Amino acid sequence: MKITLAEKSRINEVDFDNLAFGTSFTDHMLVCHYENGKWQEPEIRPYGELNASYALHALHYGQSAFEGMKAYRNQQGEVALFRPEQNWARLNRSAERLLMPAVPEEVFLGGLKKLIDIDAAWVPQDEVKSLYIRPFLFASSEFIAARPSERYTFAVICSPVGPYYAGAVKVKIEDKFTRATGGGIGFTKAAGNYGGAFYPTAKAIEEGYNQVIWTDHANHERIEESGTMNIMFRIGDTMVTPPLTDRILAGITRESILTLLREWGHNVEERPITVTEVVEAAKTGNLHEAFGMGTAAVVSPIQQIGYQGTRYEIPNPNDGMAAKIREGLNDIRLGRVEDKHGWMVSVK
Ligand SMILES: *Cc1c(COP(=O)(O)O)cnc(C)c1O
Repeated sequence: MKITLAEKSRINEVDFDNLAFGTSFTDHMLVCHYENGKWQEPEIRPYGELNASYALHALHYGQSAFEGMKAYRNQQGEVALFRPEQNWARLNRSAERLLMPAVPEEVFLGGLKKLIDIDAAWVPQDEVKSLYIRPFLFASSEFIAARPSERYTFAVICSPVGPYYAGAVKVKIEDKFTRATGGGIGFTKAAGNYGGAFYPTAKAIEEGYNQVIWTDHANHERIEESGTMNIMFRIGDTMVTPPLTDRILAGITRESILTLLREWGHNVEERPITVTEVVEAAKTGNLHEAFGMGTAAVVSPIQQIGYQGTRYEIPNPNDGMAAKIREGLNDIRLGRVEDKHGWMVSVK
């Protein structure tokens, strides 16, 4: 691996007490190009500009996918990644569906560990702050014809972040627009999935919500995800979340939370959930909690659900399941309990 270090760190220019999400970047980045049918030598170099033609393939045809992950500094001061091999596997599932080359393990995991080790000073030791990591893969040939690119670029940039949402959110059950369809690319972190979601989300924000709850493409009767997060409900004494399909992003946070809940002995169900069931449970007081699950926000409590003009208030207890899960994941990430599943991977 080729390594070129920055002449001077920019870390003193960043106000770690007022971090806006994803706007400041660490001193270094990882870049690796795919050309002539093979991956070239990865390189770590100072964070900088992309130098490319306006014919850059990814801009025109959307062969582009990303990952989102975090590095944490535990109470012993060590920097570790949370389940990074899962992000590597998922990026390659996205790559396969978008006809991009798989990124080799030593480039993704090897390069990532080295990068985070070099920029370790940027990883805060904190309950709510961490280093957000953005690996991405895009088509980097420079031609405008609607056929697959020949060159690809894999890169990783990193951004120190604070909490994603300020508090509990209000969400609107979307009954017109669709995030993903059967046979489509909803299970990938393809860039275009997010581009297509901004408009419906902006409409919901105009109506006083923070986000939408996506429903199925056929008749908008089944709950799928909440914005860019998986969703979970506590209905009665059971934790329920929709099962994975090709329309749902297989969240690593979702999977980790399911594992913890089962370990703690809770009733957990992965099954289809209808809008009618959620609305009925909200009306009868049987819906005790609802929250989004994802790397950026970890657990994001929902305080209100709107459906076809009616707003239902959802409890968000301080000592509820969302809080217990956040605490449980923090304990593992900050090294306060034994990491039974081997989820933390040291960058050393
Ligand atoms: C990234 C993402 C998630 C959450 O995945 P994590 O691995 O938990 O971060 C859920 N839904 C969508 C649509 C996403 O893009």
